[in-house]
Amino acid sequence: MPRGEGIPQVPLAFIGGSGTFSLDLPEDLGLEGVEVLGRDLVYPTPFGPSPAFKLFSLPTDPPRLVLTVKMHGRMPGVSWGEASKRLFWVLGQAGVKKVIAEGGVGSINPLLDPLDIVVPADYIDFSLRRDVHLSEDYLLIMRQPLCPSLRAALVAAAKEAPLNRVFDRGVYLVTEGRHFESEAEIRVFRQWGADIVGQTLCPEVYLAREIGACYAGIYLVVNYAEGVVKPWEHKVLKDIFFEQAEPFARIIFRALMDLPLEDGCACRDLRKDTLLRPENIGRGKRSSG
Ligand SMILES: [Zn+2]
Repeated sequence: MPRGEGIPQVPLAFIGGSGTFSLDLPEDLGLEGVEVLGRDLVYPTPFGPSPAFKLFSLPTDPPRLVLTVKMHGRMPGVSWGEASKRLFWVLGQAGVKKVIAEGGVGSINPLLDPLDIVVPADYIDFSLRRDVHLSEDYLLIMRQPLCPSLRAALVAAAKEAPLNRVFDRGVYLVTEGRHFESEAEIRVFRQWGADIVGQTLCPEVYLAREIGACYAGIYLVVNYAEGVVKPWEHKVLKDIFFEQAEPFARIIFRALMDLPLEDGCACRDLRKDTLLRPENIGRGKRSSG
């Protein structure tokens, strides 16, 4: 089994999605002092070769190292859940403690419009991805699944951007994709209390908890979900895809620079050692007498 040889020790990861897909990051932002230290970094994992990472440093004091992938680490010919496992196995070996992800989403809540930014607080997993754990070692408690400390950093950075409305809560409903949802599905999701719909927050949120990392995501509304407000236009989605990528990425990089590296949250305590171990069989018997 691979042991993570050659994987750098890095505190931060940025998982790119469709919101920044049209950019080569970090280079395209031209940020002073940001240094790319490695490209096309593929590591062996117990599940197969990893997605290609890029490693860069941010001009903080001291400099912060960040591992990043494009489009959630998806790989041709590999299922999305499987690719996520390989991605998070590497992040675990790298000792990553904070993970920020992004994506474009559809709006289920009719108060939302394209270009709104949502930093959700919870999720519903309607995807079909199962068995997306790295090991049998932990009980993962999904109370407060999106790290409050990371969310606060993302919201603060987003509120500095002049063009977007920012929502600092909400429920992200995860579907399997790749297709979008039907109108009847969206009606059900709205009754369930979902605000936005996308395809990536799960299993990443589980895998982050499993490796002991905080996780939060920032999402750009790119279309109305089916049956919400009015039929959405592909041109609007396409314009956002290309034109909003840069301002959206700048928000994320602001957050990566500013977020606290120390733990101001309970995320780490929501991962417990599993009780389902062979040595515990027989220990539940009450002592006689
Ligand atoms: Zn946290």
